[in-house]
Amino acid sequence: MQATIILKPGREKALKRRHPWIFSMAINKIKGQVEHGATVDVVDDKGNWLAKGAYSPDSQIRVRIWSFDQSQTIDQQFFFERLQQAYQARKALIAEQGLTGFRLVAAESDYLPGITIDHFNDSLVCQLLSAGAEYHRNNIISALEQLFPEHKIYDRSDVEVRKKEGLLPTTSAIKGDFTERLTIIKENGHQILVDIKKGHKTGFYLDQRDNRAIAGKYCRDKTVLNCFSYTGTFGIYALANGAKHFTNVDLSQDALDIAKQNIELNELDLAKVDFVKADVFKLLRRYRDEGKTFDVIILDPPKFADNKAQLNGACRGYKDINMVAMQLLNPGGTLLTYSCSGLMPADLFQKVVADAALDAQRDAQIIARLSQASDHPIASTFPEGFYLKGLALTVR
Ligand code: SAH
Repeated sequence: MQATIILKPGREKALKRRHPWIFSMAINKIKGQVEHGATVDVVDDKGNWLAKGAYSPDSQIRVRIWSFDQSQTIDQQFFFERLQQAYQARKALIAEQGLTGFRLVAAESDYLPGITIDHFNDSLVCQLLSAGAEYHRNNIISALEQLFPEHKIYDRSDVEVRKKEGLLPTTSAIKGDFTERLTIIKENGHQILVDIKKGHKTGFYLDQRDNRAIAGKYCRDKTVLNCFSYTGTFGIYALANGAKHFTNVDLSQDALDIAKQNIELNELDLAKVDFVKADVFKLLRRYRDEGKTFDVIILDPPKFADNKAQLNGACRGYKDINMVAMQLLNPGGTLLTYSCSGLMPADLFQKVVADAALDAQRDAQIIARLSQASDHPIASTFPEGFYLKGLALTVR
């Protein structure tokens, strides 16, 4: 018998809107025994069945919903069907942009809470971040093998958030040989190196794909500064679109080394590219002191806020880099600025950028609002899935 979670009165509202999380405070009691991550039924205070999900005793998010259909069994077939749906939904995009690198499953946004799977050429990289995802590890991997029988599989569940779910970070090759360090993916006719084992997140920032293409369009004949460049893929698009000069800045020498290889791989002109290992916060100020200017500046920093308490500090960080970046722009230049902090609302980000313009004593006009690529969808029932926002601005 599956255990049953009984909610407190009135606490079924979010579930009725099909939001996939139940917080610990919403729970009245549990009937029956339940293993870490196992499937439970959820009922309201009157005993009406609501949903079934994975029980996570250590997490504030105590249950993550697998299904709102009472007849659904959570087994390998269930995961196969959800994976298949996610793949099907991406096929047009994959064909249109010639993608061999794409997000196959975007967790809650693909109705698979805690499960992220990226497709990199002949490899699949998974992150199992919730108790339920870990509990069903074998079902998920078998379902993946069923959908992509020829692919290699790597586990990159080496993230600290697993601890909130009572799990340790872990990483390993699940299927196939991963001795070769770098894998090449294709998008929009460009080639990109991905470090599956040691790269950030699952190896690469697929979510910025559309923004790379958009950025490229602003770069013809321009001098460009790409802050927080990681492996420099904004530069591939910019140079292919005729950028005059492109500077990549990152703290990670490893990332910059791959950025250089990316330029070579795409047969672009290395003489037009600089690779600067530096702290962006300091370098922007140094450039300002030196009177250096650029036509286009890209700011794509890492997540500044992991929780609500860090949001104020995050705002200060965003304002600081945006202000100095605007001061470095030639009149009429373009600022492409992003925030990947899910906790940072889009309207607040826009305010912070507006404040940065005031402090920089520059006029700034928003010419485009930017978001994550469509293989990172946002389920309408899970607005938290919208995390990457950006603005393109003309700065006078
Ligand atoms: N723009 C990249 C992704 C950026 S991820 C892309 O399109 O792929 C954030 C990057 O910022 C990481 O590569 C990290 O090494 C770098 N980073 C973090 N803090 C930094 C700092 N203070 N100065 C420079 N780089 C930093």
